[in-house]
Amino acid sequence: MSQQIPTRDLSPDPVKVHQPQMMDLYAKREKIHARSISGFFQYIRNVSLFATMALFFLLPWLNWEGRQAVIFDLPERHFYIFGWTFLPQDFFFLSWLFIIAAFALFAVTVLAGRVWCGYTCPQTVWTKAFMWVEELAEGNRNARMRLDKAPMSIGKFLRRTVKHSGWVVISVATGIAFIGYFTPVRDLWEQVSTGTLDFWMGFWLGFFSLATYLNAGWMREQICLHVCPYGRFQSVMFDRDTLIISYDYHRGDPRGSRKRGTTGEEAGLGDCIDCGMCVQVCPTGIDIRDGLQFECIQCAACIDACDSVMDQMGYDRGLVKYTTENLLEKTGDGQYHFIRPRLIGYTVVLSLMMGALLYALISRVPLSVEALRDRGQLYRENNDGWIENSYTLKIQNKAQTAAEYEIRAKSTTFPVQLDGEPIVIRLHAGELATRPISITADPEVITARRAEIEIVVTQRGNSSVRAETKNTFLSPQL
Ligand code: SF4
Ligand code: SF4
Repeated sequence: MSQQIPTRDLSPDPVKVHQPQMMDLYAKREKIHARSISGFFQYIRNVSLFATMALFFLLPWLNWEGRQAVIFDLPERHFYIFGWTFLPQDFFFLSWLFIIAAFALFAVTVLAGRVWCGYTCPQTVWTKAFMWVEELAEGNRNARMRLDKAPMSIGKFLRRTVKHSGWVVISVATGIAFIGYFTPVRDLWEQVSTGTLDFWMGFWLGFFSLATYLNAGWMREQICLHVCPYGRFQSVMFDRDTLIISYDYHRGDPRGSRKRGTTGEEAGLGDCIDCGMCVQVCPTGIDIRDGLQFECIQCAACIDACDSVMDQMGYDRGLVKYTTENLLEKTGDGQYHFIRPRLIGYTVVLSLMMGALLYALISRVPLSVEALRDRGQLYRENNDGWIENSYTLKIQNKAQTAAEYEIRAKSTTFPVQLDGEPIVIRLHAGELATRPISITADPEVITARRAEIEIVVTQRGNSSVRAETKNTFLSPQL
């Protein structure tokens, strides 16, 4: 039995290497007709497909306290996610969320390889949905291959029409759902259904629908192979205990066909009957028996295909399986190590970042305040002989309901007073108000030329909603 991973020698021919050669740098894409397969992992993928698509399509239609639960209102610059309202100033949360998602992806990749690609990536999910429509319209793999080669006929035209109509329906539904995250989806639907879409809305709907149609219908695995960067750098994140889908060459080689009921031993062969089923079901058209390849999106179709072949042959399942390099090649101690330093590192960093984000979200006050000094005048003496400083106050209600706020000012250096204190201001949900204010101090009590002041804004009836800002109070030379 071979002890080597099968490899192909791609080194240049030493005889030809010095001869000038013409080569075509353009390789025409060969259409992949993946055979559909059922099995344990495809069942999980189907569940994941429905869950992911249902979440994507239904989320914009959910309501929360009388408005769309999730909407990124770009013109208004308000981002609503259930009970939270985020403003452009809260961009920190979004960037933090992206960093967490990146770390989570790293951690999951170290643990279980490209499970994201195989089970939840939108490209994979939508492609699988499109392939399902294709099979409904044009039949199984052999029928589709025959149809491709056949000249145009009424039957072929009708099948193609049904397929493309199905794709267009999914694409347009995807476009509507996607835009529905940025504009009220019910209004959008009314405009679509009554044909009253304005130009820009129609443009974006066409753009996203076309992108879906091309990506999932035509480009499919090309996106994974040539556009997505993740597949290219995944191997950097893998270690010898990362779960990968692999062909067990110890058990499978040498390959060869044999009669059903004949064991590999009796045939003088390994357990691989060289039926090619694992290749036929592969959506990226590779042979898993060639070893780990960047084209493999770990969809596990080859596992289900090979398991069904093993069942038919009466062999043990798992010739193609989830395994690790250590287990497969019996390197190290030949054991699977779930806990390992890199994974611990990612988990600790991830937990800390998620904890920090959670704390920041929970302790987030739905109110912001900012004070800008009047640049035209350092201070002035008012009619009462008091020293007065002027500021412009910006207050924003980040809550989803209107509220009243009290504004006060204080200083620990000497007593100051806000003109008209306490000022009460009412703001609508999300409203940003700009208001000039004056702070005064009795010259008798002024003890320093410069004092730090604090302007405090508190929601009436809910003192936990409170925001403050610091600034400087200037006085004449003592
Ligand atoms: S090799 Fe197997 S797991 Fe990888 S993409 Fe092909 S069928 Fe899916
Ligand atoms: S499906 Fe299994 S038995 Fe058939 S060629 Fe692939 S690895 Fe060999």
